[in-house]
Amino acid sequence: MTSADRGKEARKDEIAELARRRGFLWLAFEIYGGAAGFYDYGPLGALLKRRVEEAWRDFYSREGFYEVETTNIAPREIFEASGHLESFTDRAVVCKHCKSFFRVVKGVDVSEKCPECGGELEAAGEFNLMFQTRIGVPKGALKKSEGYLRPETAQGIFLNFQRLLRFNRDKLPFGVIQIGKAYRNEISPRKSLIRLREFTMAEAEVFVDPQEKNNHPGFEDVKDRKLRFVPSDGEEGEKSVGEAVRSGIIANEYLGYHIAKVEEFLDGIGIPEDRMRFRQHHQEEMAHYARDCWDAEFLSDRYGWMEIVGVADRGDYDLSTHASHSNVDMGVHVQASAQGEGQAEAGKAKAKIIPHVIEPSYGIDRIIYALLESSFYEEQVGKEKRNVLRFKSEIAPLKAAVFPLLNRDKLKIKAREVFQKLRDASIFVEYDDSGSIGRRYRRQDEIGTPYCITIDYETLEDDTVTIRERDTMEQVRVAIAEVKDVLLKRE
Ligand code: AMP
Repeated sequence: MTSADRGKEARKDEIAELARRRGFLWLAFEIYGGAAGFYDYGPLGALLKRRVEEAWRDFYSREGFYEVETTNIAPREIFEASGHLESFTDRAVVCKHCKSFFRVVKGVDVSEKCPECGGELEAAGEFNLMFQTRIGVPKGALKKSEGYLRPETAQGIFLNFQRLLRFNRDKLPFGVIQIGKAYRNEISPRKSLIRLREFTMAEAEVFVDPQEKNNHPGFEDVKDRKLRFVPSDGEEGEKSVGEAVRSGIIANEYLGYHIAKVEEFLDGIGIPEDRMRFRQHHQEEMAHYARDCWDAEFLSDRYGWMEIVGVADRGDYDLSTHASHSNVDMGVHVQASAQGEGQAEAGKAKAKIIPHVIEPSYGIDRIIYALLESSFYEEQVGKEKRNVLRFKSEIAPLKAAVFPLLNRDKLKIKAREVFQKLRDASIFVEYDDSGSIGRRYRRQDEIGTPYCITIDYETLEDDTVTIRERDTMEQVRVAIAEVKDVLLKRE
């Protein structure tokens, strides 16, 4: 291990330790020894996650998409139809010596030796990743009561397609979003938030007439954005989205548009641009429903490039398979495209098509991990070391903290007043009067709070406070009446 590697090792342990100590992330069932692949969010983690989800909702509602909430459990026949029962599998190997199981990354050869003990590995078959359960009391055929926890949120949207189409006035294109838990019985979840057995997905399903896939109304706005692409059969490089679609690296405008939107969202919440790229799946790693898939990857100090969002072109796979299994028509009447002469009536001619689906699928927990890792800085301030989480103000768990400078009743009463006023204005602030002011600043730096507001003796005379900014540590004096505006303006 080089000293640079050792530095990275120490850093990542520090982030994990900070996340635990400050109430971001806790191993689930810890008092019983924990279980691989399950984490709980503590108070600050839950706030951070909520802020990311809110930002995501806002982002896609600006696209005009509505949100739905569908069930976590579904009967067997849903997943028979969707293909998950047969194909949602991972290949496993087992160590002959220590009996540990490992997941084989699709398209990658099995390594010979066990990463845990160096023992020899052997094939252990294909495992379906879905959690099985029972619905009600089994009566008669067991298959009838068999249920599964959803491995993605998307199916609930496909199942409601007809109703959603009607809700959207029978017109394509339209998009539907959902945020919720997904469950996958991963073979060897050894990697904190990266490979969980219960995790949160945020998915958008965009339904489009296949004839219109190269005609996205918003493409003009994104076509000049430069992104880093790794095509499945080409060189990694930077290209504009327009160029990538024109040259066929990205199959169509809809896919290109949504890849650009993923980048815009991630950039907006603070994932650094230079640690992001889009990698196209190879044929053999593609999910059974996908005809093309691009992963937004984050460059982690700990895990290297890792997928945080998948953008798939699911074609008509899902609607067609549910149409044939349920005998419900999923076709949509669209204006037939005019072709040549003799089609004077073409403007009125209708054709029936099965829409295609473009799906950006975000893993919220991996995004939280990427935010923690990329926001963490260790700095020397004079003789002291400070840890800082440089979250953007929009996603920081706390917007500000309010302190009385000293532990004196008059200051505390005034500070409480300021705290309450901000909370009443729906600004999420914390009150803290314990320990030295320096220690209180460090604590807020470490949990990523953008501002600290201090009440001192001057406050009692002229109703002004100091606002200290997290990254620059600069302080300004502001009238209490203006604090709210200053906090909101500085977002
Ligand atoms: P997929 O449907 O496999 O493309 O997954 C979509 C997104 O969900 C991925 O980009 C990941 O961010 C996230 N994800 C998938 N599997 C897991 C897992 N086991 N634990 C945490 N996040 C996951």
